Amino acid sequence: MAEKSFKYVILGGGVAAGYAAREFVNQGVKFGELAIISKEAVAPYERPALSKAYLFPESPARLPGFHTCVGSGGERLLPEWYAEKGISLILGTEIVKADIGSKTLISAAGEIFKYHILVIATGSTVIRLTDFGVQGADSKNIFYLREVDDADKLVEAIKAKKNGKAVIVGGGYIGLELSAVMKINNLDVSMVYPEPWCMPRLFTAAIAAFYEGYYANKGIQIIKGTVAVGFNADADGEVKEVKLKDGRVLEADIVVVGVGGRPLTVLFKGQVEEEKGGIKTDSFFRTSVPDVYAVGDVATFPMKIYNEMRRVEHVDHSRKSAEHAVKAIFASEAGNSVDDYDYLPYFYSRSFNLSWQFYGDNVGDTVLFGDNNPASENPKFGSYWIKDGKVVGAFLESGTPEENKAIARVARVQPPAESLDQLAKEGLTFACKI
Ligand code: FAD
Repeated sequence: MAEKSFKYVILGGGVAAGYAAREFVNQGVKFGELAIISKEAVAPYERPALSKAYLFPESPARLPGFHTCVGSGGERLLPEWYAEKGISLILGTEIVKADIGSKTLISAAGEIFKYHILVIATGSTVIRLTDFGVQGADSKNIFYLREVDDADKLVEAIKAKKNGKAVIVGGGYIGLELSAVMKINNLDVSMVYPEPWCMPRLFTAAIAAFYEGYYANKGIQIIKGTVAVGFNADADGEVKEVKLKDGRVLEADIVVVGVGGRPLTVLFKGQVEEEKGGIKTDSFFRTSVPDVYAVGDVATFPMKIYNEMRRVEHVDHSRKSAEHAVKAIFASEAGNSVDDYDYLPYFYSRSFNLSWQFYGDNVGDTVLFGDNNPASENPKFGSYWIKDGKVVGAFLESGTPEENKAIARVARVQPPAESLDQLAKEGLTFACKI
C-alpha cells in the first residue's frame, strides 16, 4: 500500500489536535507539511459539548457548530479551513501500530504514514463495565460517552424511549451532567455511585451536599454507597433492569455509564517512557524519544506550580498543552526555546442552570462560603482549600466572569490565610481583593 509522508503528524483528532493545528498555522507551517490522523469521522471539535448542549431536547448543539476553537472564544475551524491551509485531515482512520524507531504509523486498513515529528494526542477512552465482566453489561441501550458517534446513539435512544427510565452509573462529572440532561429530556432519572458523595475527587462533602440536594429537588433519585453488579435485558437484548450490589433492582430503558477514563497510550507501550499512567514529557511536551511529543489527556508533565509530575484530563489543559508543544517545536527548529509550561489547573462543569469553576489544587483544609442552600432561588457559594497557611485552591458556583477570574488569581498567587473563620466570613471578598 502507498506510503504517505509528512513533516509533522498529529495522531488523534480531538481537542488538542484542533488547537495544535491552529498554532501550527500561527507558527507558519507550510502547505502539505502537517497531517492529522483521527479515528473519528469529523474534524476536531470541542468534546465537552457532547455531555451538555448536544443532548438538549430543544436546539441541540450539532456539528459544524462546535468545531475547535470556539470553546475558548476562538475561530471555528471547519474542514475547509484545514484544506485551505494545506493540512491533511485524515479522518476515519485508526492507527493500530506505531513504530517509533522507523517513524511509522500503520492504520487498520494497512496504510503507512511516515513523519519527521509526531505529536501524540490520542486522549482517553472510557472504562467499560464489560472490561470487568459485569453480567449483562453488553445489553443494548447501555451507553458510554466519549465521541460524537456515542452521543448520536444516545440521542436516538432518548427519542426511542420517550418519558422512559434512565439509570446513570457513576457520580463524577459525566454522571452529574448526564443525569441533568436526561432529566431535561423528561426521563425518570436515577443516579448510582459507590462513594459517600458525588465528585469525591474534587468536591468536599459540603459542596456535594448542594448538588445532591439540587438534583433531588429536580426529581432525580440519588442512590449512594452501592454499585451496579448486573443488568437484565428483554428478549430483544434491550436493558430493562439494573441490579445493585445492595440487592435493589432499578428499572431502566437507558443506562449511561460514566465511571472514568484511561489515557490511550497503548500504541506506544515500551517505546516511550511512561509515568503516572501517561506518557512522560518535559515542560515542552517532549517525550523520552526525540521528535515525539505528547499533549492533552495522555501527557504526564511537570506541573511547575506544584513541582510535581501530573496528568490532567481537562479541556483547558488539552488546548494549552497543544499550543505550547507546537510553539516549542518551532522554537527548537529555529534554535530558540520557549518558557516552561506553567499550568494552573482549571476545571469546570455545567448542568441545569448551574455552572461552577475550580482552579488550583484541592488539598488541605477547606472552608465554605456563601449560600449553598439547594432550595435558594439564586444559590451562590464557593470553597477555598488551604495548605500550609496558604490558599491553594478555589471553587465557585454561579460566579460572574470577574469573580471567576478572581478565584483563578487566588489559586495562582496562593495568598496567606490568616484564619479559616476569617476566610469563611470574607468569602468572595477575599478573592476580589487579590
Ligand atoms: P480527545 O479530545 O479525546 O481526542 C483524542 C482523539 O484521538 C480522538 O479523536 C480519538 O478518536 C483519537 N484517537 C485515539 N486513538 C487513536 C488511534 N489509535 N488512531 C487514530 N485516532 C485515535 N473537560 C473539562 O475540563 N470540562 C468539561 O466540561 C468536560 N466535559 C467533557 C465531556 C465529555 C463527554 C468528555 C468525553 C470529556 C469532557 N471533558 C471535559 C474532558 C475533555 O474533553 C478532554 O480532557 C479533552 O478532550 C482531551 O483532549 P485530547 O485531544 O487529549 O483528547
